[in-house]
Amino acid sequence: MKKYDAVVIGAGNGGLAAAVRLLQGGARVLVVEKHNLPGGFATSFRRGRFEFEASLHELNDFGTADNAGDVRVLFDELGVTDKIEWMQIPEAYRVISREEKLDATMPFGVAAFVDRMEQYVPGSRASVQKFFDLAEEVRLAQAYSSSVNGNTDSKYMVSRFGNFVRSGSYSVNEVLAALKMPKKARDILNAYWCYLGAHCDDLSFVHYASMVNRYMMRGASMPKMRSHEISLAFVERIRELGGEVWFNTEAVRILTDEKDGGVAGVVFADGTQVEARHVVANCAPHVVYGKMMDKVPAEEVRATNARKFAGRGFSMFLGLDRSADDLGIENHNYFLYDTMDTVRQYERMRTIADNDVQATVCLNRADPDCSPKGTCMMYFTTLYMSDDWANVTPQEYYKVKNSVASRMIDRFEQDTGAKIRDHIEEISVATPMTYARYCGHPQGVIYGYESQYWDGLMPRLLMMGEDHRIRGLRFAGGYAMRLSGYSSAYFSGEIAGRQTVGDIKREG
Ligand SMILES: Cc1cc2nc3c(=O)[nH]c(=O)nc-3n(C[C@H](O)[C@H](O)[C@H](O)COP(=O)(O)OP(=O)(O)OC[C@H]3O[C@@H](n4cnc5c(N)ncnc54)[C@H](O)[C@@H]3O)c2cc1C
Repeated sequence: MKKYDAVVIGAGNGGLAAAVRLLQGGARVLVVEKHNLPGGFATSFRRGRFEFEASLHELNDFGTADNAGDVRVLFDELGVTDKIEWMQIPEAYRVISREEKLDATMPFGVAAFVDRMEQYVPGSRASVQKFFDLAEEVRLAQAYSSSVNGNTDSKYMVSRFGNFVRSGSYSVNEVLAALKMPKKARDILNAYWCYLGAHCDDLSFVHYASMVNRYMMRGASMPKMRSHEISLAFVERIRELGGEVWFNTEAVRILTDEKDGGVAGVVFADGTQVEARHVVANCAPHVVYGKMMDKVPAEEVRATNARKFAGRGFSMFLGLDRSADDLGIENHNYFLYDTMDTVRQYERMRTIADNDVQATVCLNRADPDCSPKGTCMMYFTTLYMSDDWANVTPQEYYKVKNSVASRMIDRFEQDTGAKIRDHIEEISVATPMTYARYCGHPQGVIYGYESQYWDGLMPRLLMMGEDHRIRGLRFAGGYAMRLSGYSSAYFSGEIAGRQTVGDIKREG
């Protein structure tokens, strides 16, 4: 039996970052991935003459060499930044909401954002600037918390980051109301909520503020050759550092030690076993505890079952036979909502019948050459806040999938005035079933566990030290302590890798 210090199950963003950190810490590492290519959602696929990005709308907190975000700093440390060609996204977003007759296009840059908001909502400047001041304090407090692995000194926190502590347990809506921000400004500022997949009564202010602040400070980035380029860079780096990556290898069981119940090895679908006292799982705890382990501590089962699955994904990818200019597609990144009342909007997103929300990208607005001359590419994504797709029978599946896709096209045309339907050369649609099958996530969830008051970013980071009940088992990726999203998954992988190196060293 081959022997490793650690096995990483899954080569998604979290697993790849964890593997590099483990190798940098001197561990012998095996990464296993059930697919024949790395990345999980961070990949691309071809249809005809188009290479579609599978998931990434924009990478938050990466920045540029002279305005580096935390993700770039992390990638520098991991040794992958220079293996990738980067480009910047031109503007933050265009948000259109029917109920409020809202149509606003927001730029990157804190000052530019505040100025544009003042143009749309005269008198909003002071409250929006206060939001960014508070958001910056949140960012600095989080950086301090990470630097001490969550073991923060409460006196220091209160004296240095008092407003962070005061706002830490409130929702987005509560804090924006306390800042006396005009309603229209709140509506525009809240446009990103669907990226975090929880409505603004539930969504932790510090989580949201931290994300918005990072977008505005550093802009957003995209690898030239889609997110697949990042995933390939990580695999190259893992191999440079002496790690092994086995594709087409599904982990089916985690073996445990009879004495302490901790990790002893991993069994793969073809029956091969390897010995390891450490596993970083880049998949859902529901799957690991439900399918891969015999004995799981009762408190771990209870904690896992108490969590709420976040949005189930649905995406449509279009290759169009005209340029974005010809078709009147003006922006890179659109959010189309029925209402900016995020609680009511969230409720509508529970069912296939009622959900018309979309986050839509035209990649050519960031990279005009990403598709052949005279064409353009778009991808449309929505989330379902319940498992309504489980109610679709196999007989109805194609009909329902096509009708949702068709509604997405209608909605985009009606809300933006661009005409795309007659120019579709390639179309591909992914439903929650596709996502469940591709990455193995329950119900086709693409955002891990939903951010809740008791289970948001701060509680998870604060509990990081204690949230580890099975010796040798840690989690990385969208279900882990940083919640979902690219940047979060890379960070959680880095943390899980670093923690595991510490575990290995302590064992001697
Ligand atoms: C359509 C779409 C749009 C998105 N847009 C954005 C965006 O613009 N910005 C953003 O930040 N985030 C976005 N996200 C979310 C982002 O893609 C995810 O949060 C992130 O990629 C999750 O990474 P992960 O580490 O959890 O790994 P995953 O991508 O979930 O990958 C897990 C990997 O583990 C493998 N695996 C699972 N089980 C096993 C096993 N038993 N054995 C071997 N291998 C296994 C899977 O095959 C997979 O490769 C989007 C997601 C989707 C689907």
